Amino acid sequence: DAKAVGFIGLGNMGFWMAINLAKKLPVNSKVHVFDIVQTLVDDICAKHPESIIGCSSPKDVADKSDIIITMLPEGKHVKAVYIGPNGICSSDIGQKLLIDCSTIDTASFLEVKDHVTKVFPCASFYDAPVSGGVIGAERGTIAFFLGCAEDNSKDIQELRELFSLMGNKVIPCGGPSLGIAAKLSNNYLSGIIGIAASEAMDMGMKSGLDPRVLAQVYAAGTAQNTICDRFNPVPGIYPDAPSSNGYQNGFKVHLMKKDISLALDMARRVGSTNVLGSVGLQTYTEASEDERCKDLDSRVVFRYLGGNEN
Ligand code: NAD
Repeated sequence: DAKAVGFIGLGNMGFWMAINLAKKLPVNSKVHVFDIVQTLVDDICAKHPESIIGCSSPKDVADKSDIIITMLPEGKHVKAVYIGPNGICSSDIGQKLLIDCSTIDTASFLEVKDHVTKVFPCASFYDAPVSGGVIGAERGTIAFFLGCAEDNSKDIQELRELFSLMGNKVIPCGGPSLGIAAKLSNNYLSGIIGIAASEAMDMGMKSGLDPRVLAQVYAAGTAQNTICDRFNPVPGIYPDAPSSNGYQNGFKVHLMKKDISLALDMARRVGSTNVLGSVGLQTYTEASEDERCKDLDSRVVFRYLGGNEN
C-alpha cells in the first residue's frame, strides 16, 4: 500500500535515509521533507521529483504524513521541531507514528515524548538512533537501536518494515529512551577505543614495528576490535578506512565529542563511574578545535596525539 512518510532534517545522514525511502517505499508513496536549509530541500526534491515533496515547516510535514521521522543534530533541535512554533505538535498527530533517529540526550527525548503523549495519547513516539555512518546511510546498511521491547510494542512490525528500507539491523533495546542510552554507551566505547588504539599503534610504531604487523597482532590477540580493523586510525593499513582517505567520510570528530559529552551526562545521572570519560572528552574537544583535525573523521585523534602518518 502507498504510504505518506515525513522526513525532517536532511543533513549528512537524513538526506540519504530519505532518498532510500523514496526509492524503496511501495509505488505511489510520498516522502514529505523539511529542513531549515532550503537548498537541501531543493536538492533532494530534484533527485526524485515524482515522490519527494518539499514542505514549508514541520507542521506542514506532519499534516501530510502518517509516519514522521526526525534526524536532527541535538536535543534543542528536536524540541524546536516538535514543540516550537509550526512544530509537529501544532498538527493533529493523534493517530500517527513518530520516530526520532537523532542522537540526543535522553532527557530531551523524554521531555518531548511526555509532551506528545499528554496532548495526543494515541500517538506512538519512539527513539531509534542509528549507527553505520554516512556511507551506511547512503548504502542502506545502518543499524537502528529502537527504544521499545520486541514483544510489547504494537508498532514493531511496521517499524521493522520501515527501517528495512534504510538499514539492515534493528535492535529493540527495551523501552523509551533506551535506544538512545544504547547508542551513547556504544559511542562512548568506540570513542575511547579510538584513543587507546591511536596510543597503542603509536608506541608500537615508534618502537620499530610495522603498523600492518601491529594490526595483525591485535586481530590475532586479545585486543581484537572493529576500530583496529575496519577503522584503524593509522593511514595505509585498511584501504577503506577513513584514515587511508585523508580522514574523510567518517564519523566527524565534533560528533564524537558531542556523543561522549552526552554519555558522560548520562553516566553521572545514573551514578556510573567512568575514569576514562573526562580524558576522552578533553581529547576530542581539543581535536575538534585543532585546524589539522576539525571536520575530519574522529580517528584523526591519531594525528592530534602526534602519530606518524607516513
Ligand atoms: P547534520 O548536521 O549533517 O544534519 C542535521 C540537519 O538538521 C541539517 O541539515 C540541519 O539544517 C537540520 N536542522 C537543524 N535544525 C532544524 C530545524 N529546526 N528544522 C529542520 N531542520 C533542522 O547531522 P547528521 O550527521 O545528519 O546527524 C544527525 C544526527 O544523527 C546527529 O544527532 C548525529 O549525532 C547522528 N548520527 C550521525 C552519524 C554520522 O556519521 N554523521 C552517524 C550516526 C548518527
